[in-house]
Amino acid sequence: MTEPEISMLPTGPLLVANNLTRHYLVSRGLFKGHATVKALNGVSFSLQRGKTLAVVGESGCGKSTLARQLTLIEAPTAGVLQIDGVDVAQADAATLKAMRHKVQMVFQNPYASLNPRKTIAYTLDEPLLINTTLSSAERAQKIDAMLAKVGMRPEHARRYPHMFSGGQRQRIAIARAMVLNPGIVVADEPVSALDVSIQAQILNLFMDLQDELGTGYVFISHNLSVVEHVADDLLVMYLGAAVECGAKAAIFARPLHPYTQALMSATPAIRAEDRRTKIKITGELPSPFNAPSGCAFHQRCPHATERCGQEVPLLRPIENRMVACHRVEEI
Ligand code: SF4
Repeated sequence: MTEPEISMLPTGPLLVANNLTRHYLVSRGLFKGHATVKALNGVSFSLQRGKTLAVVGESGCGKSTLARQLTLIEAPTAGVLQIDGVDVAQADAATLKAMRHKVQMVFQNPYASLNPRKTIAYTLDEPLLINTTLSSAERAQKIDAMLAKVGMRPEHARRYPHMFSGGQRQRIAIARAMVLNPGIVVADEPVSALDVSIQAQILNLFMDLQDELGTGYVFISHNLSVVEHVADDLLVMYLGAAVECGAKAAIFARPLHPYTQALMSATPAIRAEDRRTKIKITGELPSPFNAPSGCAFHQRCPHATERCGQEVPLLRPIENRMVACHRVEEI
């Protein structure tokens, strides 16, 4: 039996987001009307096959909203999302259904993301049953093979989630995401709920699976040490917008945006030569209900001028990446 396929482009990016925007209309309360929360404001990037794009920023910067758009859980308010060359907004129902199993998600909390009443075999069988025409014997074979890939034994299939440790549960969650052999996995803080000793094992598992299956990852994390380990490219977000994006190596070697500089200076380094001068940013991330005028970072930026409070900086090419800052050449 063959599985349904969406048309694949032999070359070109696996995922393209162009000016992706998501706004929510929320009630202010009785008789107070509505307000618009600008959770995602025109984010653009592309993801190549077998590569990892890391999305970093503080809690509330729009990372999880971005994940919901990429996994087709929500439709963007504006902008274009292309998966394997197909514009999601233009796709018919059959193409959309096929596309859904090309993008899978791994969540932060392996305790909450697995159904406690279902065996591991059921959890892994469900996506195969819904999305493929494989026979039950073929599905069982696929489940055994997938469990082996994530370092679990065949007898684990008959057990329930509470019988496993956090690290094992995350392995099972990864197996569930990978069992359909998606081209893209969106991983939302996939190791932040795990013990530090287990985090490296799970990160290495992600990388081994990528080498073997050629999966592209969008890896969402607030932890720059984790990001440095796994990413090829980096997208730094602040209040729903990209402030710096480009190759990880270039940005880690010399962050240009003041917000990226501050994030990196706050990351502990073991080796003295890797330690950066601390840049203290004051205040908290502003509310997306009431976003500041001009540069969204101007109230916290040590380099802000009058212009920064009035004019939104556009993302533009500087050196070998894109940066949204009026003063980047002077800093
Ligand atoms: Fe700071 Fe101004 Fe650059 Fe914004 S535009 S990051 S406020 S210097």
